[in-house]
Amino acid sequence: MSLFESTLKQIRRASDLMNLDQEVLDVLSVPQRKIEVNIPVRMDDGTLKIFQGFRVQHNNYMGPYKGGIRFHQQVDLQEVLALSAWMTIKCSVVGIPLGGSKGGIIVDPKTLSEAELERMTRKYVELIYDFIGPDKDVPAPDVNTNAKIMSWIVDEYSKINGSDAPGVVTGKPLDKGGSKGRDTATAQGGIYILHEYLKENGLNPSDTSVIVQGFGNAGGIAAMIMKKDGFNVIGASDSKGGIVCNHNIDTDALMNCKIENGTVQNCGLYVSDIHGGDGSKCEALSNEDLLESECDILVLAAMENQITKENAGRIKAKLIIELANGPIHPDADDILAQNGIIVMPDILANAGGVTVSYFEMLQNADGEYWSNEKVQEELKTIMTTAWSEVKINADKYNCTLREAAFITAIARLDHKIRQSGEF
Ligand code: NAD
Repeated sequence: MSLFESTLKQIRRASDLMNLDQEVLDVLSVPQRKIEVNIPVRMDDGTLKIFQGFRVQHNNYMGPYKGGIRFHQQVDLQEVLALSAWMTIKCSVVGIPLGGSKGGIIVDPKTLSEAELERMTRKYVELIYDFIGPDKDVPAPDVNTNAKIMSWIVDEYSKINGSDAPGVVTGKPLDKGGSKGRDTATAQGGIYILHEYLKENGLNPSDTSVIVQGFGNAGGIAAMIMKKDGFNVIGASDSKGGIVCNHNIDTDALMNCKIENGTVQNCGLYVSDIHGGDGSKCEALSNEDLLESECDILVLAAMENQITKENAGRIKAKLIIELANGPIHPDADDILAQNGIIVMPDILANAGGVTVSYFEMLQNADGEYWSNEKVQEELKTIMTTAWSEVKINADKYNCTLREAAFITAIARLDHKIRQSGEF
């Protein structure tokens, strides 16, 4: 099953439960536009390489298309299709007036020099220029893209456009029109919901142990915020492997160690809160073993399909938070539900990123910039309101949080699509 087929399965499950009109389901089951580009790049050694890229615009009934750009060797059209459809659903879950899109280039950016990466990014912008813009389609960072790459996109777009257009992307550096709180928004949004969940279940952060898969933008920041909020972060991993400790990890030290060494895997010695000969220790282990380790909360913040029907039965966490997009295969969802494991689904749990991107768009349009306090207040309100709505639908339809989040989003889209007068 391709990743897009998994997404369609999720949409169909929700539409069956809510008895969605077939025509609306048909609209949501296909992207409005698929753009495929071949990007010629002059390499530093004088040779020419051609990279394949995509931009998929899934749906804009709610507002301009919105979605990140991913640079990864495993990008393919099916993945970009799925990610674009999840963006449509995600924006609708949190009730922001944006549609869904996604972009990607098949490349391992670690094999390119910075100059090659910049030339590739600028050429990609030239090739998709006609289809993006502040009121049309607004890209953002995703896996292996960041604020610096966003500023190249603004620069290239503005050059072709003939005028300065900071609103063409979000996730920009602060001095180039970015929003305070954007770098932490994905993690923080999920953590605001997690705190609500713990309160409702009479739990304290200090009662819980946490393992984070994917110590990058979303997961690394989540680990640091959770540590600050009093959770016991005991394990973390990246693409090379992970560590699990018998004590609280000093997550700031782990981040510094990862930056220095390129991986968390050999950082065990540096991250102990309790220094000295008290028996505290960390064990290096593979990503497969990390997922199956004992913990209360498992944060998935790496790539798709990390939990499948093969390993779902061995997951010991009680609660899983999907900061990554699509980390649990639909077949695994059923097994986790049967085992009583709660899943905070990606389309809700990681929607903080696009929510603060929306704030960035508002700030760029008004030319007025918000304090971090205002960003956090608005983000918390949007996330916790969405969480309440999803819970109401989970009770009403007696379904999982994922199904309820899809129902919440699709109900809003259904209303908007009908209002369009086309149906
Ligand atoms: P990133 O590149 O900053 O971090 C990804 C991390 O995962 C890296 O540390 C990488 O080494 C690690 N990783 C890759 N494969 C792994 C594997 N098999 N096992 C364990 N770790 C692995 O990317 P990111 O921006 O943090 O994105 C991570 C996920 O979160 C993606 O699914 C992305 O779509 C999703 N997401 C990110 C944002 C955001 O604002 N950054 C917003 C919404 C969703």
